[in-house]
Amino acid sequence: LTEACLSAIDGAGALNAFVHKTPEIAMQQAEAADARPAEERASLNGIPLGVKDLFCTKGVPSQAASRILEGFKPEYESTVTSKLWGAGAVMLGKLNMDEFAMGSSNETSVYGDAVNPWRDGDSNLTPGGSSGGSASAVAADLCLGATGTDTGGSIRQPAALTGTVGLKPTYGRCSRWGIVAFASSLDQAGPMTKDVRDAAILLRAMAGHDPLDSTSIESAVPDFEAALTGDIKGKTIGLPKEYRVDGMPAEIDALWAQGREMLQDAGAKVVDVSLPHTKYALPTYYVIAPAEASSNLARYDGVRFGRRAGLNQGDGITDMYEKTRAEGFGDEVKRRIMVGTYVLSAGFYDAYYNRARKVRTLIKRDFDEVFAGGVDAILTPTTPSAAFPLGSMADADPVQMYLNDVFTVTVNLAGLPGISVPAGQDAKGLPLGLQLIGRPFEEGDLLNLAYALE
Ligand code: GLN
Repeated sequence: LTEACLSAIDGAGALNAFVHKTPEIAMQQAEAADARPAEERASLNGIPLGVKDLFCTKGVPSQAASRILEGFKPEYESTVTSKLWGAGAVMLGKLNMDEFAMGSSNETSVYGDAVNPWRDGDSNLTPGGSSGGSASAVAADLCLGATGTDTGGSIRQPAALTGTVGLKPTYGRCSRWGIVAFASSLDQAGPMTKDVRDAAILLRAMAGHDPLDSTSIESAVPDFEAALTGDIKGKTIGLPKEYRVDGMPAEIDALWAQGREMLQDAGAKVVDVSLPHTKYALPTYYVIAPAEASSNLARYDGVRFGRRAGLNQGDGITDMYEKTRAEGFGDEVKRRIMVGTYVLSAGFYDAYYNRARKVRTLIKRDFDEVFAGGVDAILTPTTPSAAFPLGSMADADPVQMYLNDVFTVTVNLAGLPGISVPAGQDAKGLPLGLQLIGRPFEEGDLLNLAYALE
């Protein structure tokens, strides 16, 4: 299996999904897996996986797709990836992504665009972002599954655009230790897989309390695969009317209606619900995420990690910081740092950051109330459109790109689990995804509902 994946990766360079290959590590892990006696084999024995470049992997380049982390080889392994290797999985290499996980198209990467294996005539399509390399690799059968991270949709949106499954767990379900931080109160790691069963198996291996991450929760990790009974009779699914946004393409609306029918046919009750603060979610997210990012990215100073700019005789420490950051960060990352610094600055803090924190609470309360009313999960489209051509948004206002996240950011603001499942196609035959949003720490239930949609 590992050899087959390694050769598939070598043959799929055009997708630019894998940015660092680790064939020696892979073969070592695969041989150890083969040699392991049956009774010592854990759930992922010999299963080859790809790892998003945002995860620190010991001795292996971990650049978060940024120039500023050029040459950075961590001395440590992230908790999530070490759990995967502990369960017997095999590391094929590191996967492309948007720089520091900021983006929705994988076009901000220092390695260049990752490409969707789905095509529209002659044009190369985006695999989505920021976990674009992970989605592309899973969709193109270069690996059996991959890790992703999701701060505002970066697992679910690329899954939707590539016809794969992506699960963003409840905040605190997986340890963030050893994952390059973007917005710490929103970031969560999760599995990207070919189907729902694989997502259940991978999540179980990735999840669990970690003393190294004080926000990881001490809650038992259930056998998510055992939850996949296919029986969803008596479950109540909410359809939030606020997600029927202006200008939503008819095919997205039709997909949503089809999802509703599938769940009803399987015995679930579908009700209309209201999440009144939804319209504030995108602006709230684009204040909070850059604010936290501006603080997290302050550590890249040319001293502690990665790359330092060339200096001239007489340059001082401030010159070193400025030159390193000026040439090390890409445009989108700089934009986020500037927005974040602005909304946190004296005089604007109350008007922007503090206001956004309050609205975030209201967004979370909307969900609390719907769940308290007996709703088990919420069904929405994952994205407002199918995959778009790479380069097509190059001259657009950055807000146009942010609009891709309109259905996904609420889940991160509220800390809830969300999953995208492939559910249909647009007029050109490109994949579309439906999103299910669940109660906190009820990923088992959520996966079972997704299983019914699959
Ligand atoms: N597209 C969103 C952003 O650019 C979400 C990214 C993510 O989830 N990491 O911030």
